[in-house]
Amino acid sequence: MATMTAFRMVRWGAPPEYQEVEIPKPGPGQVLVRMAGAGLCRTDLHILHSPPGIWGDVPFTLGHENAGRIAEVGEGVTGVAVDDGVIVSGVNFCGHCDTCVRGLQNECRHLQMSGYGTGDDGGLAEYLLAEARHVVRLGELDPVRAAPLADAGSTSYHAVKRALPVLLPGSTAVVIGVGGLGSYAVQYLRQLTGVRIVAVDTEKGRLETARHLGAHEAVVSGPSAAEEIKDLVHGPVEAVLDFVGATPTLELAVSLIGLGGRVLVAGIGGGEIPMGWEKLPMNAEFINTTGFTVGDLNEVVALAAAGRIELTSTPFAFDRIEEGLEALGKATVVGRAVVTFD
Ligand code: NAD
Ligand code: ZN
Repeated sequence: MATMTAFRMVRWGAPPEYQEVEIPKPGPGQVLVRMAGAGLCRTDLHILHSPPGIWGDVPFTLGHENAGRIAEVGEGVTGVAVDDGVIVSGVNFCGHCDTCVRGLQNECRHLQMSGYGTGDDGGLAEYLLAEARHVVRLGELDPVRAAPLADAGSTSYHAVKRALPVLLPGSTAVVIGVGGLGSYAVQYLRQLTGVRIVAVDTEKGRLETARHLGAHEAVVSGPSAAEEIKDLVHGPVEAVLDFVGATPTLELAVSLIGLGGRVLVAGIGGGEIPMGWEKLPMNAEFINTTGFTVGDLNEVVALAAAGRIELTSTPFAFDRIEEGLEALGKATVVGRAVVTFD
C-alpha cells in the first residue's frame, strides 16, 4: 500500500496530527491532484475549536484552499490531463440539482458543511482526491500563488458581486476585516467599481496592506469607527462587507448602512444583532453571503492570470503547518498563509 503524510483532524477539540494514510485512487469522474499549495483560512481555526456535529466526522485531512497538478485521471474524465495545473473549488457542489444547473453552486441542494478539508479529506497531504467537476484549470498560473483563490479569493469575489447593484460610481463600500478574504474584496471593488473604499481592521499592518491594494481610507476598528467613517464620507454608505461577523462588527455595519443599502456578512464570527423592519433603513438588506459559484472561480482565475490582482502570500513548509495556523490566528501573516509541498 502506497502511503503519504496528511495533516488530520483526529478528535474534536484536540490539535490536528500528522498521520500516514493511503494514497487514494481516482474512480470514475475523479482526479488525483498532486498538491502544490494549500491556503490556510480562519475557517480552519473555527474547525480546530469546534464541538462535534458541525463539520462532518473525524478523522479527515484538513485543507480547503487547494491547488496543484493533475497526477492521475479517473475513467470518463475529460478536459484535464496529467500535469495540468488546477485549482480545486472549496465549494462542494453536486453539479446536477436545480440550483447547480442554474449556476448557483453555492446553493447546491446537496451542499453540506462538509467538503474537502471541512469534513472530507482535504489538501494538507501530498495528494488530494477530487471530483473532476470541482477542478478549474490554471493555465500558466502558478498553483502555489493561486491556491487562496479556491476560497478566500472566490468567496470575497462573490460577496462583492452581490454588492455591485448598489455600488454606483460615487458611492461608498466599507470592508470590515481586511485579512485573507477582505484584502481580495478591496481589490475586486477597485477593479469592478468606481466606489470609494473604506477598510476597517484592528491591525495597523492589515490596514496598510489594504491601502496598498486600493482602499482609499483606512480606519481602526473600535467604538469610534462609525463616527469616523461617517465624518470621512459625509453620511451613510451603500454597502458594508463584514468579513469578521462578530457582534461589534455587525453593529458597526448596520449603523453605517443607508437607504436601500446592503450589509453582506461572510465572517463566521458568531455575532448576533437584533433584526427587524425598524432595525434597518428603508429598503436596506442584510445578506448572508456564503461560498461562490463555478463562474466566480473561473472569473477570479482569469483576473489573476491577467495580472489584475495581487496574490500575496507567506509560504509555510508542509512540516510547519502549526506555525502557519498560529500566524493566521495572530493576524501577523503577510497575505494568505500558504502551505507548500516539495
Ligand atoms: P483572516 O484572519 O485572514 O482575516 C480576518 C481579519 O479581520 C484580520 O485582518 C483581523 O485583524 C480582522 N479583525 C478581527 N477582528 C476584527 C474586528 N473586531 N474589527 C475589524 N477587523 C477585525 O480571516 P479570513 O480567512 O479572511 O476569514 C474571515 C472570515 O470569513 C472568517 O470568519 C472565516 O471563517 C470566514 N469565511 C467565510 C466563508 C463564507 O463562505 N462565508 C468562507 C471562508 C471564510
Ligand atoms: Zn447541486
